[in-house]
This record gives sequence, structure tokens and C-alpha cells, in this order.
Amino acid sequence: MKKRILFLMSDTGGGHRAAAEAISAALLQRYGEDNLSIELVDVFKSYSPFPLNYMPEFYPWLIKNGKSSWGMGYKLSNSRRSAKVMSRAMYVTAEKQMKRMVHENPADVIVCVHSVLTRPAVDAFMHAADDRPPFLTVVTDLVSTHMFWYDKRVERTLVPTEAAFERGVLAGLKPEHMRVTGLPVHPRFSEIPSQHEARAALGWDPHLPAILMVGGGEGMGPLYKNARALNARKLKCQLVIIAGRNKSLQTRLEESDWNQPTHIYGFMKDMPRLMAASSILVSKAGPATICEACIAGLPMILFDAIPGQETGNVDYVVDNNAGVFAPTPRSVADAAEAWLAEGSAGLRRRSENARRIAHPNAVWDIADEIWQYAHHPRIPTQRSISLIKRISATRLLDFV
Ligand code: UDP
Repeated sequence: MKKRILFLMSDTGGGHRAAAEAISAALLQRYGEDNLSIELVDVFKSYSPFPLNYMPEFYPWLIKNGKSSWGMGYKLSNSRRSAKVMSRAMYVTAEKQMKRMVHENPADVIVCVHSVLTRPAVDAFMHAADDRPPFLTVVTDLVSTHMFWYDKRVERTLVPTEAAFERGVLAGLKPEHMRVTGLPVHPRFSEIPSQHEARAALGWDPHLPAILMVGGGEGMGPLYKNARALNARKLKCQLVIIAGRNKSLQTRLEESDWNQPTHIYGFMKDMPRLMAASSILVSKAGPATICEACIAGLPMILFDAIPGQETGNVDYVVDNNAGVFAPTPRSVADAAEAWLAEGSAGLRRRSENARRIAHPNAVWDIADEIWQYAHHPRIPTQRSISLIKRISATRLLDFV
């Protein structure tokens, strides 16, 4: 019998899908498609009522237009109690749909890669049937992890850093129920081609340093302004700008004139090759992008961080000398100009620093844990416990 693995995620940003796809690829490579089947469910989109089901569409708008309110909301909800109350409210709102999710997606192990979904999903599995499969959480934020991630009822919580582990302890989780694995990054990032090969395949100039600019899967943040600030410096380089799913940004970039070879793309499926071909990454502080860049040995200029979940990522990169924080278009251009002026020796040194904090084995360790749990027996739920209590109570009344 194939083992059925169910990933709970949502396309709010690109990182959750990236994590689920990375682990899926490792599971399939290591254990074979004859032995397992994988399902990825966007819980907001498919199993939540209006307006939560529009979360994937709403999220980029929310971050762009309500950044400070988002930061405030993050802070206010980021205590054990608030996280519990808010998660409960979400479960009550989506109870019918989430119980349907449990019944429509039979599985041998559940893997949740989204903070907000963790607790409501555990509630759903606890109440929808008399028993449930083991539940694992893979934390996909790096350092300043929200309390939403941590639920004591979960069998195993896999975290990317010591800081995320400490947050789990603070949330009341037992250390033996957690493990620091690193963030899962797609195995393709460990098999990247040489810079020369990658550039040839992409049709880029083989000699000019390439500056890769990304704003997460959604093309978020001041990517356009940063690109124009770099363009104004007329540096001896080539620019590569990834607009992601942000179509209007892509059109605007394509309609602009550029002073150096400039390659503009929409959402790309081959980020490993793009990173292999590049010399410097200019990005918002997205956890997946940062960890991918570390494996690819790409030093980073970080221009933005989503308040709350990405704030700690900047310190993580800067403290490890894998990059700098440059919050204005001018400082982005200054940093890139200075790095290019240092020449290849400087870039190589920064690249080594990035590689030093990479966790290329994380995805394999996580896949192994999931595979082990896929063989565990099902676990009695709250519903079966209440049933036993009800039966005992009735018997007791009969007896009286
Ligand atoms: N990504 C991609 N294609 C693109 C742009 C981004 O595959 O054109 C991937 C990127 O490699 C990373 C994810 O999308 O795996 C972005 O995740 P991150 O955590 O950095 O930011 P988020 O989008 O979740 O805010």
C-alpha cells in the first residue's frame, strides 16, 4: 500500500509551496513514487469560507498597502494566549470546510508548512474522526517565528534555526518533540550547474557579473525603484529582474530602457539555474530565497522584510556576513557598486560566508522524519476520548 502524505499549505507568498515541493521531491527521490502518493492542499483557497478563501490573492495587496498594520497585527497576535484564541476563532469560522478537508484527503501523515493553518488544522483532525494520522509541522519562517507555528498536540515540530527552537520552548513545546533541521530547500539547489553553463543555457553574457533581483514569488517590494537606481549607476554588469507573479511590474520593467544588458522574467520555475548563473542577489528577506541563495553561494543585498515574520531574517544574514541590509534604492545601488568594485575575490569571500550557513541536508532529514511517521499507527482523537467519557457516564447512570 502506498503511503499517503498530505501537505497543508497556502499560496500566500511563494515560500510555503516551495517548502512543500522541496520536501515532496526529496521524498519521491528517496522512497520512490511506487511507495508513496503526495497531495498539496491550499487550505485557505479550497477549505475556508469567504473571505479567507481569497487570502492567496489578498496577501500581496495586504503586505503592499497595509505593511505597518500587518506588523502591528503580527505583534499583537504573537503571544501564546492570543495565538490560541485567534486560531480557535479561525477554526470555528472554517470548521465545516476543514472537517470536509479531513474526509476528502485521507492520509497516513499530515505535514503543515503554514503558521496560521497549524492549530486550526490540528483542531479539524481532532474533531472530524475518532482517530487521526500523525501530524508534523515544518516551520518555514527562519528566526522571528510566530506563536501560531507551535501546537503541543503535534507529534513533531521541525524548525530551521536554534532561535526558532527557543521560540518553540517558549510556546510550551517539549524539546524532545522538536528538532533543528534547517529550512527545506529543493534538492535541485544542491545539483546546480556551473556559472558558465547556467549563463550559456540562459543566453546571458558569459563574462559580466550578474545581479539577480527578486521580490519573493509575488514580486513584492520596491523592485522597480531598486532596478532603476542600479541602472542609473551604469555599472559594468548585467541585471536580471524577476517580477514573479506581479504582471504589472513585469510590463513596466519591459517598457523601460536599460543602460546594461537586462533580462526580465515573470514567475520562473528554474530558480536554481538563475541563482547558479548570478553573482549577487538583491532580494526582500524571504526565508526560502535566503536559504536557497546560501546553498547556491550567492551573497545578498536585502532591501526589505515583511514586518514580523521576516524581521529576524535580516539579522541572520547580516550577522553571518552573508549579506547586507540596504533599505533604500540608493543604498542598494551603493552596496552593489561597492561589491563590484571589490572584484571577484571579495564576491568569492561573501559567497563562502553564505555557503557556511547553508543546510543542504535539511530537506533530506525532514523527508526521512515524515517517512518514519507515515508508518506510525493512527492516533485516537479528542472525539474518541469524549465518546469513551460519554459511554462511561451513561453506564454509570445505568448503574446508579
Ligand atoms: N520563486 C520562484 N520563482 C519566481 C520567484 C520566486 O520559484 O519567479 C520562489 C523562490 O525561489 C522561493 C519562493 O518563491 O522558493 C519565495 O519564497 P520566500 O520565502 O523567499 O518569499 P515569499 O514569496 O514566501 O514571501
